[in-house]
Amino acid sequence: MTQALYRELLEVMKSRGGPYAGLDIPEFFALVEKLFDPEEAEINNALPRKPAPIEEIAAKTGRSPEEASKILERMASRGLCGVSRTPGGVLYRGLPFMPGIFEFMFIGGRETEREKTIARLINTYKKAYTTVRGVEKIAYPVTRVIPVARTIKAGNTIHTYDQVMTYIDKYDFIGVGACYCRQAAKLRGEELHGMPVGVCMWFGDIAENLSERLGGRQVSKEEAKDILDRCEEAGLIHMSRNTTDEIDFMCNCDRWHCEVVGQILKQPRPGLVFNSGFDPSFDPERCVACETCIERCPPEALRMGEANVPVVNTDRCFGCGVCATGCPEGAIAMENKPGFPIPPKTVKDLVNALKSSS
Ligand code: SF4
Ligand code: SF4
Repeated sequence: MTQALYRELLEVMKSRGGPYAGLDIPEFFALVEKLFDPEEAEINNALPRKPAPIEEIAAKTGRSPEEASKILERMASRGLCGVSRTPGGVLYRGLPFMPGIFEFMFIGGRETEREKTIARLINTYKKAYTTVRGVEKIAYPVTRVIPVARTIKAGNTIHTYDQVMTYIDKYDFIGVGACYCRQAAKLRGEELHGMPVGVCMWFGDIAENLSERLGGRQVSKEEAKDILDRCEEAGLIHMSRNTTDEIDFMCNCDRWHCEVVGQILKQPRPGLVFNSGFDPSFDPERCVACETCIERCPPEALRMGEANVPVVNTDRCFGCGVCATGCPEGAIAMENKPGFPIPPKTVKDLVNALKSSS
């Protein structure tokens, strides 16, 4: 009976798609048997992808709404299902592993033995998955780099969607939680290279939800700005969804742990599928060849040129501005990349762009 439940869960997680969707390997079952207890697995299998009321989900499982609600609330507090508050009541939905369960479950920064075990099992599953499936080819960017605005050279075009402050100014509710990649690495006892963990940001309704249920916390606009300054100083890359009008999160990514950056660096020309639309330019009069920018550059896109001034490999450069924020001489400024396309406006436009490029 229990075995049948987890086999059904495999089919459910396959159908939800996304990176690391269900795969019939022993590492999948080792992970999901720890993630979901049998009654949670049963509820998960009944959850639709679109938000549904408790009565509908309860009817599918033959449980009372009260009983189903209790299990779902427990799951929601661990990031195992999605929750939306509507005027008509709370709605629940099934989540894929990514984006979804893997990110949500570590937001609260808990460090119990359960989380440590799950962090190890997720890693083992991802590695086994990649061995079977190979590296996923990225044909169209789902995510986008947001450049460090103060590094952009005067006279260049800066769209509002190019500026992190746009998102902080726009939303009243800003939530902050643990970067799931670095939190998972911490739980596995890995080196964090001095990178901060509790710095990933959420905006609007989703931020409220994550702060209420998953252990994130609400921050003021001032604190949000301070956090972003700290991220820039540490050399983290601001990253969000590749849309202009529907941004509800801002990750601050590093080269060692970030799932997205890791996948992108495996592509033949990483800078083409993950970019801000800006290139660094170097002032040879100011540069003292200290190589700080070369050390800070997350995709290793810089090398020292013959004139003792760094040169950039645009096939690798993300346009993040991390080199410019670290330059002690102020010798680097970001300039518009010629011909860079305007990102899709909405999530629907992004999905259409993804479909037409696949
Ligand atoms: S950090 Fe600045 S001064 Fe140092 S090598 Fe890079 S551009 Fe030159
Ligand atoms: S050279 Fe490196 S640090 Fe500078 S913008 Fe490009 S990717 Fe970022």
